[in-house]
Amino acid sequence: MSEKIENVIIVGSGPAGWTAAIYAARANLKPLLFEGAALQEHYDLGRGPLGQLAMTTEVENFPGFPSGDLSGYLDNAIDESLRQYMAPHQKHGVSGPELMELMRQQAKNFGTRVVTDDIVEVDFSQKPFKLKPREGEEWLKARSVIIATGARANYLGLESEGKFKNRGVSACAVCDGALPRFRNNPCIVVGGGDSAIEEADYLSKYSSVVYLVHRRDKFRASQAMVDRAMENKKIEVVWNHVVTEVLGDDQNGVTGAMLESTVDDSTKQLDASGFFLAIGHTPNTDFLKGKLDMNNAGYLKWTVPFRTNTSVDGVFAAGDVADDYYRQAITAAGTGCMSALDAERWLASQGLH
Ligand code: NAP
Repeated sequence: MSEKIENVIIVGSGPAGWTAAIYAARANLKPLLFEGAALQEHYDLGRGPLGQLAMTTEVENFPGFPSGDLSGYLDNAIDESLRQYMAPHQKHGVSGPELMELMRQQAKNFGTRVVTDDIVEVDFSQKPFKLKPREGEEWLKARSVIIATGARANYLGLESEGKFKNRGVSACAVCDGALPRFRNNPCIVVGGGDSAIEEADYLSKYSSVVYLVHRRDKFRASQAMVDRAMENKKIEVVWNHVVTEVLGDDQNGVTGAMLESTVDDSTKQLDASGFFLAIGHTPNTDFLKGKLDMNNAGYLKWTVPFRTNTSVDGVFAAGDVADDYYRQAITAAGTGCMSALDAERWLASQGLH
């Protein structure tokens, strides 16, 4: 066991983790951040280092990064006397991977120490807290901890689905929808929530038709999203069906799916080159089971209104790991900031920093 006691260990490397690190580092807490191990199994599950944003393309809703002619916007918005001292810009906004690398760099610039490994076990029963990395035998000690491990997309769990991952099976239309294999071909989206409709709508820009397969006869999605689906001529809703098999072959990847009715014994086959899942997310909290309070779906509970406290004093949570509702990069970054301020103030209140 190391004798060193860290002020704060941050676990997770999405917008929440990096923002927490930036604030903690600037507060002179010298944070140690575990960004996750770069293991293929993590990437397969959509939980690799840098989080979900690292799997997307353009990020159009993160304030401060408008797409279009950023230099032009700046010319308009800022007085010429100031503008001349600012560096020139490219004409695009920012992509998910770019944004994450920029956040990572910003956190490192302020002195964050980054470890490319997972925390696989914790002991929050005593202070200082103890955390066990995947690599090596040694446990680390920390006065405070920020959990920012995010959430990952769900899959149906079919064997055939796993076989064609990245060969037509995807849980992120926005990341993969523009790939050539989906262009002018039919695609399938599974789910009935806002994400399913959003994904179907996005895919319809590229695909010839999008089959939206839902297991019931009513969407869970909000009315505005339902209206959007119904108005889109390229979206064909397949009500009351579940997928029993993803069809495909070694040469072509996905070629379709077999469906089974949920109201009678009928089955049907759909031809498609893409199979997209939009059936919700699972928070990355397996290593915290029994250590911190969670809701039924495994999301960490914030225990104080408008604060990032968890059920253990001195342990804070930020981002999608505790947020199944907003799930946005900017809200994750916001709670990341809050968690660092909460940790800093808690350490001060305990006379620990
Ligand atoms: P969600 O609301 O939990 O919906 C998941 C959908 O997947 C449900 O329709 C569910 O069916 C279906 N499903 C779950 N497991 C399934 C399985 N094993 N087989 C077949 N279908 C299955 O998740 P979400 O759509 O990702 O949305 C999550 C949150 O983010 C929501 O609060 C949502 O409003 C928000 N969101 C908002 C926007 C937006 O406003 N633009 C966009 C995306 C997400 P049942 O309905 O039968 O349970």
